Amino acid sequence: MCIFCKIINKEIPANVIAEDENCLAFHDINPKAPVHILAIPKIHVDSFNEVTPQIMENMTTFMQNVAKEVGIDQNGYRVITNIGENGGQEVQHLHFHILGGAKLKWGHFSDSDPKDFL
Ligand code: AMP
Repeated sequence: MCIFCKIINKEIPANVIAEDENCLAFHDINPKAPVHILAIPKIHVDSFNEVTPQIMENMTTFMQNVAKEVGIDQNGYRVITNIGENGGQEVQHLHFHILGGAKLKWGHFSDSDPKDFL
């Protein structure tokens, strides 16, 4: 069973923020912004590659509500999902990073030369 399924099953602890029938949100253990939340579907999906529109429908409303609950919806935030090896995905259970609480840099995306990646 994957680590996020274990969190869903309460086999390992997490700092849970919100939960409904289909989704769970908890603080990232290694935050990269003042607010760094992970939102996941309760059903196991490996990545965005496999997600269905039905799951995304649930997750979209859920994540909008989480952003409101933690008070980042008005000032803005970022939603990211990493996919596969090139995307830097470490946990093979679909998750959306919700990052906020400060003006986020675009970092290496804006500063780098695309050729750096070749
Ligand atoms: P990714 O690289 O997109 O797969 O992101 C995986 C994220 O999961 C990383 O930001 C980790 O810090 C986070 N993470 C891994 N294990 C846990 C855990 N047990 N509780 C909370 N966050 C975790």
